[in-house]
Amino acid sequence: MKIAFFSTKPYDRVFFDKANADFGHEITYFETRLTRQTVKLAEGYECACAFVNDQLDASALIALAAQGTRLIALRCAGFNNVDVSSAGKLGVSVVRVPAYSPYAVAEHTVGLMLALNRKIYWANSRVKEGNFALDGLLGFDMRSATVGLIGTGKIGECVASALHGFGCRILAHDKQENKICKTEYGVEYVSFEELVAQSDVISLHCPLLPDTYHLINMEAIARMKKGVMIINTSRGALIDARAAIEGLKSQKIGYLGIDVYEEEEELFFEDKTFQILTDDVFARLTTFPNVMITGHQAYFTKEAVARIAQTTLENITAYENGSELINAVKAE
Ligand code: NAD
Repeated sequence: MKIAFFSTKPYDRVFFDKANADFGHEITYFETRLTRQTVKLAEGYECACAFVNDQLDASALIALAAQGTRLIALRCAGFNNVDVSSAGKLGVSVVRVPAYSPYAVAEHTVGLMLALNRKIYWANSRVKEGNFALDGLLGFDMRSATVGLIGTGKIGECVASALHGFGCRILAHDKQENKICKTEYGVEYVSFEELVAQSDVISLHCPLLPDTYHLINMEAIARMKKGVMIINTSRGALIDARAAIEGLKSQKIGYLGIDVYEEEEELFFEDKTFQILTDDVFARLTTFPNVMITGHQAYFTKEAVARIAQTTLENITAYENGSELINAVKAE
């Protein structure tokens, strides 16, 4: 099948070309993001392959469908950037990669917790400058911490497994309780209000949906323990970044670790070293010594990217063969 591949990075080509040797699809790689403005590039391609920050709103989908695109193959798990209901009405199928390596995201999550707790980024720069003082580097034992997980699906479960290894007390809030989390990792399910009030560390592992938009807002932050650590490796808009800044200024939030940011599509995945940063909210976040930001790299391990390529191409082949689309995304 002819595939218009958007938001391409050099590493995407390496993994997709390797996996495609077994599939034989005709892939054209475009560096640009897929938006209403760039849809024209997909003309004549039955499939458009998109990533987390491509914008598949109703107008982009209408234009794609009018040009003959019949399949949106997301090479990611989240699908908050696609108007799935409009796609359904237009007869455009949407497939995704629901699971590729929950370990990759979970390990990065725990990495952020440890790096913030023990101030590893500061410690490393200090030592390289010849400063071996320990002032300001005091951390806490993870073993003595209560960690609250919001969402205990595939990634939340892996985080629970790692934290259980540290001996943390683990609380969780989810619409659906995960039996493995309860029986193997001693996770206690509580209400959202209890979780935010009791946790020393709060880590977000739920999808971005209308009811989770700005889940961490002024009101939720007000209920948290003073000095709480908040980690977000899910989707940026789960946190109201302005409210987080107020929480950091008042020192209610003691640490913030984020791999995702609400307005990240204008920033992440590009080298902007010599450009002026115009997002004042993001710029303010970068000024706090107790904020650590990575640019949506939690998924980025060789195992995860290889699995993403394999599943994306399997999804496309299934569509081409008229087989059941086991990874289809449907409107609720
Ligand atoms: P999953 O579907 O396996 O689990 C999500 C869990 O969230 C489910 O158990 C669901 O019941 C729960 N949930 C839904 N609404 C909730 C709510 N209001 N409150 C609490 N829990 C709720 O998904 P997953 O594979 O664990 O991924 C979680 C999220 O991680 C994805 O939605 C995606 O946004 C994000 N993600 C980020 C990266 C990255 O590189 N940073 C990579 C992959 C996924």
